[in-house]
Amino acid sequence: MDAVRVRVDRDLCIGVGNCVAYAPTVFELDEENKAVVLDPASVDDDTLLEAAKSCPESAILVEDDEGNQLYP
Ligand code: SF4
Repeated sequence: MDAVRVRVDRDLCIGVGNCVAYAPTVFELDEENKAVVLDPASVDDDTLLEAAKSCPESAILVEDDEGNQLYP
């Protein structure tokens, strides 16, 4: 898999922080307790996908570099 893009749907995020636990270099909770994306390239793609799957709200969207949705 080539470079992937990661986005967080702020309307869905409830600030549980699973994603931060999985990939603290990629996700961080902001002052509204919503996850923001830091540096997706700092971990491998499998870790990114695992972090996305750890989100109970499916708020983490993973796309390939052509915009095709990989998850969820
Ligand atoms: S795991 Fe999902 S709900 Fe929890 S902080 Fe991350 S994006 Fe938000």
